[in-house]
Amino acid sequence: MCLGIEYHKVAMSDELNRIAAIEKAIKEKYGDVAVEHPRANWDDEKERKYLEQVKTLALKKRAIAEKTDKVDNGGFFMSKKLLSKETKRKCPVCDVYSFNMGDDVYMNKFECCYECYIQYVDGREERWLTGWRPDNGNNT
Ligand SMILES: [Zn+2]
Repeated sequence: MCLGIEYHKVAMSDELNRIAAIEKAIKEKYGDVAVEHPRANWDDEKERKYLEQVKTLALKKRAIAEKTDKVDNGGFFMSKKLLSKETKRKCPVCDVYSFNMGDDVYMNKFECCYECYIQYVDGREERWLTGWRPDNGNNT
């Protein structure tokens, strides 16, 4: 898990470097026009394009901020974005809606909450992973 986060950090700084490079390129292409607006070589079309690129960059930066906004997920950190986007909050096994982030680990890995993990999966991962569920008629 630590390795994964380290890798995440590296990928993130790469992305930031790329954004810095794009910003520099925009500046070189358009000059320091944002505040000065030298009318001679500045027109609506240029301004439109410029604003478009600035906007794209701002969106990218926001996406990165969201990605790096980590949430403590019961012992290790997960990004808020990942949690809200990719984590199911309702256990498909017991139908309980969970707000406990500790459940996310089990939800992501076993598609059930912690309670169900303890009750049905712990020590019997193989049976679980082959598709066995407590309500599919093969109850033991
Ligand atoms: Zn459950």
